[in-house]
Amino acid sequence: MLAKSIVWSPSRVRMLNECPRRYVHSHVVGRGGWPGGPKSHIPKVAQAWQLGNKRIHSDLMIRTISDGVKDWILMKYRDDNWSEHSAKNQMTARVRGSLRESCGEIDDNLVKEMVSEGFPRLTALERAPLLSQLGSERVDEWMPLNRLEAYWVGNSRVYTVPDLIARIGDKWHLVRLSSQLWRRVPNETQQLELGVMLKWALDEPSLPNSPEQFVIHRIGWLNHRWLGWRNRGSAVWKDASQVMLTHDLKELRFIHLANKGDVDLDDLATNNNKQHCSNCGFKNECPRA
Ligand code: SF4
Repeated sequence: MLAKSIVWSPSRVRMLNECPRRYVHSHVVGRGGWPGGPKSHIPKVAQAWQLGNKRIHSDLMIRTISDGVKDWILMKYRDDNWSEHSAKNQMTARVRGSLRESCGEIDDNLVKEMVSEGFPRLTALERAPLLSQLGSERVDEWMPLNRLEAYWVGNSRVYTVPDLIARIGDKWHLVRLSSQLWRRVPNETQQLELGVMLKWALDEPSLPNSPEQFVIHRIGWLNHRWLGWRNRGSAVWKDASQVMLTHDLKELRFIHLANKGDVDLDDLATNNNKQHCSNCGFKNECPRA
């Protein structure tokens, strides 16, 4: 059961580093960790499941944009016509669905606000770096991938599959998309996280076996437009990312082992920095918020 529960993704590791208490509630107790789920007879377990799924509105909007981006890419790949009208309807339906799931109620004005703020990101995809070239002669071949597909490293699930892969000449471009960036150039940790894609690519039998034949891209929305960052793969980058991944998996395994069913959830440690509390679903119940 423990082996199954170890999942690596940049967002999980970030949550663990930002606040161990939130991580334990969300990913050790909730979402498959402790038995019982949202209907557990232990109130704290049921609550951890429910509150762990709560998201602030901006997170919900980002998620619906990501779904819209996925649709856009898939339609481009299939050579289907992307229509602004139906994409907007689809986004509205998704915003409504996620608000219902997260808050139990739908405020029509809020839905309108979220769609009008988020939708320009979809219409701007045609001008995004690299994405604007898909389907043109400049790109020899490409295909969308499913980043939610698990890639196994030992007994751990590692979420590192790129959002799409493209071949231009003899280079393979591994693309990570982000519907919201805070800076164009990834910081050192983010570059190591992106480098884990190299491990995935090198393990794929149909792809080249040299890191230098890959180019890693991060394309994301920043200040009203899609911006790209790219860097050539290297053995040094791949090895450094591997070291980070091994370290992260060790930390994740430790926190899961240390927080089995007999732990007192009220005693869980938090980071002193309260800046991460604003988007936490446990905020209203947390004695440290
Ligand atoms: S409210 Fe703040 S301190 Fe409490 S679990 Fe959430 S992030 Fe941690």
